[in-house]
Amino acid sequence: MAIRTESAPAAAQALDLHSPKWIFLQLLESCNLRCKMCFEWGENGSYKEKPELKKLDISVVKRIIEECKETRPYYELYGGEPLLYPWIDEVLELIHTTGSKAHFPTNGTLLERHAEMIMAFPPERIWVSLDGPEEINDAQRGAGVFRKAMNGIRKLYELREAMGSEYPKIGISTTVTPTNYKHLERFYFESVDLAMLDCLSVELQQYVTRERYDHYAGVLREHFDIAAAPIARGFIADPAQFAEVDAAELCRQLKRIERYCAEHGMYFNAYPKVISEENIRHYFNAEWSKVTNMKKRCVFPWISTEVNARGEVTSCHNFYDLTLGNVNELSLKEIWNGTKYKQYRDYLRKQLFSICPGCCLYYNEKPR
Ligand code: SF4
Ligand code: SF4
Repeated sequence: MAIRTESAPAAAQALDLHSPKWIFLQLLESCNLRCKMCFEWGENGSYKEKPELKKLDISVVKRIIEECKETRPYYELYGGEPLLYPWIDEVLELIHTTGSKAHFPTNGTLLERHAEMIMAFPPERIWVSLDGPEEINDAQRGAGVFRKAMNGIRKLYELREAMGSEYPKIGISTTVTPTNYKHLERFYFESVDLAMLDCLSVELQQYVTRERYDHYAGVLREHFDIAAAPIARGFIADPAQFAEVDAAELCRQLKRIERYCAEHGMYFNAYPKVISEENIRHYFNAEWSKVTNMKKRCVFPWISTEVNARGEVTSCHNFYDLTLGNVNELSLKEIWNGTKYKQYRDYLRKQLFSICPGCCLYYNEKPR
């Protein structure tokens, strides 16, 4: 279903959207890595303050999948690290048997161990998060991570080929930071075997400014009676930290990667969507309104929903501060059609949140 985002709320109302078409499940909060830039577990990450880590109960996950199976939604399985979820095999099987599709990101360190399990009911797409050549990646993500992830990709690729299966499509997803931006070309064209990959995603680091965070926290207090926004706080960064990024050089590398994908039939995802020096500069200067094709509205409250590991439902990917109900108390559809969701949609029908440029859904219109 392709909905142009600009006209999305009106278009969505014309459809029978009694059930979400795209469901994000944060299966668990735990992760086996401590990547420096992670908004959950990194240097500014808010998860380090949690006294207890949670995971979704498998009975709740099964109930959601059964409840929504009629509309065959896409599932995005998140963590933490999704492959640490003890019932990941059951989740993949149920999604598969109900005719839905699943995508998930992984840090890749457990991929080799779980490759056979994944191939039993393969998801449509797996994104392995890697940030550059070995020494660059491991400086951000930890010693030995690069090798483990590469071994995992190879094992999964070889198994898939041996089984003659089309799925999972395998991709690498890279977050561009001041530390790795000079090394993207070397990474993709020298450190990685692109023949094993079906898709690449290169995303400028998501962040929000202190001012935008403060505004968002004020909106939550004033309009939604929510006292604090600790998750959004994990996204705060000072644009000054990107001042050293050479936009022309980064643009040159991104264009080459984009060209390679186009020439080799690989899906390429990037944000900002339009790669140009100006857009990169505006993005890292927090001048998002000057970036080409930026949205005025967001469609996702009408088509997608997210359940975090505590059972809390929100519509904003990763921004779990604004919750609209809990699946441990009500069904997902009751929450989706409830008064809190309506209030939330009414707010977003008129404007975006100030933190939206820090949300990857701001740059996407469909599962990737
Ligand atoms: S692997 Fe992902 S969730 Fe885990 S610390 Fe790194 S970025 Fe965060
Ligand atoms: S944070 Fe903004 S862009 Fe992201 S889903 Fe929510 S409203 Fe949409």
